[in-house]
Amino acid sequence: MGKLISKIPEGPLSEKWTSYKASVKLVNPANKKKLEIIVIGTGLSGAGAASALGELGYSVKVFCYQDSPRRAHSVAAQGGINAAKNYQNDGDSVFRLFHDMIKGGDYRAREANVYRAAEVSNQVIDHFTALGVPFARDYGGTLDTRSFGGVQVSRTFYAKGQTGQQCLLGCYSSLNRQIKKGTVKMFPRREMLDLVLIDGRARGIIVRNLITGEIERHGAHAVVLATGGYGTIYYLSTLAVNSNASAAWKAHRKGAFFANPSFIQIHPTSVPQLNEFQSKLTLMSESLRNDGRIWVPKKKGDKRPANEIPDEERDYFLERRYPAYGNLVPRDVGSRASKERCDAGYGVGDTGLSVYLDFRDAINKQGKKAIESKYRNLFELYNTITGSDPYTEPMRIYPAGHYTMGGLWVDYELMTTIPGLYAIGEANFSDHGANRLGASSLMQAAGDGYFVLPNTISNYLADQISVPKMATDKVEFDEAEKSSRERIARLMAIKGKQNAGTFHKRLGKIMWDYVGMSRNEAGLLKALELVRELKDEFWKDLNIPGTDVELNMELEKAGRVADYFDLAQLLITDALNRKESCGAHFREEYQTPDGEALRNDQDFAYVAAWEFAGEGQSPVLHKEELKFEAVEMKVRSYK
Ligand SMILES: Cc1cc2nc3c(=O)[nH]c(=O)nc-3n(C[C@H](O)[C@H](O)[C@H](O)COP(=O)(O)OP(=O)(O)OC[C@H]3O[C@@H](n4cnc5c(N)ncnc54)[C@H](O)[C@@H]3O)c2cc1C
Repeated sequence: MGKLISKIPEGPLSEKWTSYKASVKLVNPANKKKLEIIVIGTGLSGAGAASALGELGYSVKVFCYQDSPRRAHSVAAQGGINAAKNYQNDGDSVFRLFHDMIKGGDYRAREANVYRAAEVSNQVIDHFTALGVPFARDYGGTLDTRSFGGVQVSRTFYAKGQTGQQCLLGCYSSLNRQIKKGTVKMFPRREMLDLVLIDGRARGIIVRNLITGEIERHGAHAVVLATGGYGTIYYLSTLAVNSNASAAWKAHRKGAFFANPSFIQIHPTSVPQLNEFQSKLTLMSESLRNDGRIWVPKKKGDKRPANEIPDEERDYFLERRYPAYGNLVPRDVGSRASKERCDAGYGVGDTGLSVYLDFRDAINKQGKKAIESKYRNLFELYNTITGSDPYTEPMRIYPAGHYTMGGLWVDYELMTTIPGLYAIGEANFSDHGANRLGASSLMQAAGDGYFVLPNTISNYLADQISVPKMATDKVEFDEAEKSSRERIARLMAIKGKQNAGTFHKRLGKIMWDYVGMSRNEAGLLKALELVRELKDEFWKDLNIPGTDVELNMELEKAGRVADYFDLAQLLITDALNRKESCGAHFREEYQTPDGEALRNDQDFAYVAAWEFAGEGQSPVLHKEELKFEAVEMKVRSYK
């Protein structure tokens, strides 16, 4: 296992977190004030961590590139947030949520972390409710729930189709409370450019003030990355267009291992691409699959309007292939099944690259009002984008890049392989294995930020109380600032002909074509070659207008795309290395006769954690073996 020490506590799974908390080192209140913590990111994980750490009495500095912390990508989350409350009395429990996540992730996640995420989920819902998040309620006043893919219980709490926005407003208010109290200092419109290590520990960051272009130094006793996922590596994805991997990538270059980078979730229900000029795709929440039925015509190339195709000529292919879960199969399974139908010539729409999501039966059964009360804002969103009315004709949907299960490797304490550097939320690899179940990301992000990190970070900080406030005039800060400035100068000096967006789009196409929903060795090798060529072209022909001492969004984009070229190569290397299919990672060479993913537990039941070995060098693979004690590794079946 080399350098990977996962620090999983001893004892039975259900007692690990309790016993960890009972024995973890603490920092006394007088010392907490003296300890500074930097948090990058203000989504559910970052805003949650910053507020919880501020409330505990630490001195927190929090950064984001948006103008307001409440614009973090978490605001876009639609469908809901899971918890094992079992309000429905339908057989749910912490163990069942844990089990669903382990199975949903195709047995490629660490048991102890997943169990803890399930345990903490109930605290998250209580906390958000206390913060005033307006979750939907049933007629008796208790919180209402609905179902998401890959489960047979109803455990998803929601606020219409705006759950992320409402939860983030809750986080934002708790963050503001701390800002007012003076425990948290907020730095919006700052982009982290580099991590500063002193004696091998994370001690600060270099940021660019995005308004003025000034380069700033900030020191701390510990640094927390809550910087989200890298799904925009495909260019077109359901993520906010500015989401990026640069902070995590900079940390990787300084010694933080990157785990399972090729585990990327392709969500089955996005509005399909409408034209070549689009810069983003829009998700139609998985919650719609509670009532919407997915189908294609039984006849190839059937061009009749959907409503003119009678029931007996429709293929409800998810219900046919997976009767036990039907339309609520997990996302990887649903996406592949849609792709299979479209590839076989049954897709609908002008391009043949979409399938129907139909509410006709639900409206007939429950009435339009009931459907409206659950999904109105999503239906309006769809109607605004496509001009089509989902109340009267089925939506058209197609898979799109959505979420990254891969991320910085962290131990049980959420610390990376760099002492004092933590990664939380989507930025880490921790809880979802090879496929994330719907509504479990907000749960993990908020759980990491509010409840896990505030407990684990004291174990590290307890030994730091005699370390003085970090001075930023040290040579390590000089060097990090110098290299950040040099990189900006290098990008500005290229003065070629193509803008960063053009390169990003071309990179995204390579990634989607060869490293998307299904992968094979020849395609991956080809992608590696194409990415290398495009990277060379980027560094010769990039054009950034304006200067670096002002607001310059082209410069911001260029820096992020430059990092994506390097991450793309690692991602492809990881996909090549994993000679099995598991979860969202589907290698065409490894499939069952009926086209399902064929895992290889003998050789690949491990987390692949990659170490940066230097510019132009092959990354070094470290393996964290996955041991399953509470669940048995089985062939994942949703039939
Ligand atoms: C359309 C959509 C719908 C979704 N719906 C759901 C759902 O219903 N339920 C669910 O559980 N999950 C959902 N997800 C997933 C979920 O929204 C995200 O995984 C989750 O919000 C991530 O939260 P986070 O705190 O890790 O990061 P984010 O919310 O992505 O925040 C990242 C933060 O990091 C900051 N940052 C990043 N890099 C830098 C840098 N270099 N310098 C400074 N700041 C930086 C950003 O400014 C931002 O504040 C959805 C995702 C999408 C795309």
